[in-house]
Amino acid sequence: MPRRREERPAEPDPVPLVARLVDDPRSGGLAEIRRIQPFQARKTYLCPGCNNEILPGTGHVVVVPLNDPPARRHWHTPCFSRSGLDSPRG
Ligand SMILES: [Zn+2]
Repeated sequence: MPRRREERPAEPDPVPLVARLVDDPRSGGLAEIRRIQPFQARKTYLCPGCNNEILPGTGHVVVVPLNDPPARRHWHTPCFSRSGLDSPRG
């Protein structure tokens, strides 16, 4: 069964897929922000913003502390926006 090499989401995501760095108060250092597309989300995660589950197939955000990558946290995109982490330094 042939596999497609590239799959594109039905709706384009306006947020760039490029990972970027923010200050992360949880780890006390920098964290990398990654956008997870719905087709990449295959597990259920607990969102630290609202303490509700992020169900498989839900596009969301992952915050990966550079000094402690296993401590990465998965957020709903709107919860992450409200968290204030996703804001310019200063
Ligand atoms: Zn949430």
